[in-house]
Amino acid sequence: MYATRFAPTPSGRLHFGSLVAAVGAYLRARSMGGKIYLRLEDLDFPRCKKEYTQSIIEDLKILGFSFDDKPYIQSEHLDFYEAKLKALVESKKCFYCHCTRASLKVKACSCEGQNFKDGALKIALNAKPYFYDNHLGTITLKHSLQDNLTLKRSDGLISYNFACVLDDELMGITEIVRGSDLIETTPLQIALIHALNFKAQAYFHLPLALEENGLKLSKQNHAKAVLDEMSAQEALLKALKFLGQNTDTLQVKDKPEVILACALEQFLEAKIPKVSQKIANLGTS
Ligand code: GLU
Repeated sequence: MYATRFAPTPSGRLHFGSLVAAVGAYLRARSMGGKIYLRLEDLDFPRCKKEYTQSIIEDLKILGFSFDDKPYIQSEHLDFYEAKLKALVESKKCFYCHCTRASLKVKACSCEGQNFKDGALKIALNAKPYFYDNHLGTITLKHSLQDNLTLKRSDGLISYNFACVLDDELMGITEIVRGSDLIETTPLQIALIHALNFKAQAYFHLPLALEENGLKLSKQNHAKAVLDEMSAQEALLKALKFLGQNTDTLQVKDKPEVILACALEQFLEAKIPKVSQKIANLGTS
């Protein structure tokens, strides 16, 4: 059965860029008669806050989304990630590394085989710089890929890539629908999936909402909370418009749930743009 997920990082409140990803993943999943899970990727403890986890869950409710199952919060599953790491260390599938970013600039890592007992945990991968995307077709990266991927940082943080791949397998995700900013990371995740003998997933990358200056709308760029800027209905209509969907028959006076249900009925996946766009070009909806 088709299953996908919306996986925001709670380092701020839900902004318009994340809402676009949520709407895209939601419509894609429901149009396939599939499931969609909500996963809060809060393992980067210095950046993520519990209050943002709660506010994202609440904002998504106000916006009319209904997810399958209760939200999956990564920080509640640390034992799971640690157990997987322990098994990988024991089977010598990963290795401890003492390199720093600065040292890697001058010489390649040679920590594998040195049997260090501490440091960052890494896995050697043989990533191919291309993959097939169900929305964008074959994607080929222009640069070469690193061959070692960090699973756990030397400061103890579990890496996004490792947790993401473990959770996608655990949740039975069949297609990953997310923003195009993660295209660069996808070949590494595919190589990790392969190295761990997990089931392969399909990919569907969505266009990004860009600021006037061409930068991705993100928490780092201080994007505002979408529900502070407009009503849930206005936000949904704007996200649908961004995703190339017809909003003529949808009305701001309707409940958010109704807007999402109508958008689903008339959802045309082929209308989703393939390139990222500036939100200013959308005008007001
Ligand atoms: N947590 C990531 C983000 O908010 C998304 C990860 C994913 O969809 O794989 O950018």
